[in-house]
Amino acid sequence: MAEIIDGFRALTSSIKTLQKLAEARKDGEILSITSNLLSNIVDLQNVVMDLQNANKSLEKTVDELTENGIFIFERNAQWKVSNKGKHGPYCPGCYAKGVEAPLIHGEWAGMGNNYECPVCHDFHTVM
Ligand SMILES: [Zn+2]
Repeated sequence: MAEIIDGFRALTSSIKTLQKLAEARKDGEILSITSNLLSNIVDLQNVVMDLQNANKSLEKTVDELTENGIFIFERNAQWKVSNKGKHGPYCPGCYAKGVEAPLIHGEWAGMGNNYECPVCHDFHTVM
C-alpha cells in the first residue's frame, strides 16, 4: 500500500512541476490537461482507499470464519472446519432447519456408522 501512495505522490509532484512550467509559459492547454490529471489522481486515490477498506473487511471476515469455523456437508453429515481442524459430525437435518446443529457422535453414537441426533432423533449414516 505504501508503494501505491508513494506512486501517487511522485505522479502528483511531476504533474505539479509540469503545471508550473505551463504557467510560466502561459500554456492554457497544458494547464487544463494537468488539472484534469490531478483530478483523476484524486479519484484514483479514492478508489484505492475504497478497495483497501473492502480488503480489510474481507480479511476480517476470513479471520472470523477461520476462527469460528464454517460448516461443510461431507460424508452425509455436517462438519465444522476452522483453524482448529475439522470437527463433527453434526446433524444435517437440524443444520438444514437453521437450528444450531448438534454433534451426532460421542454418547449418542449409534451402531456402526449410524448416528442418532440428540435433538431431532433422526438417524444418519455417516460414510
Ligand atoms: Zn438433528
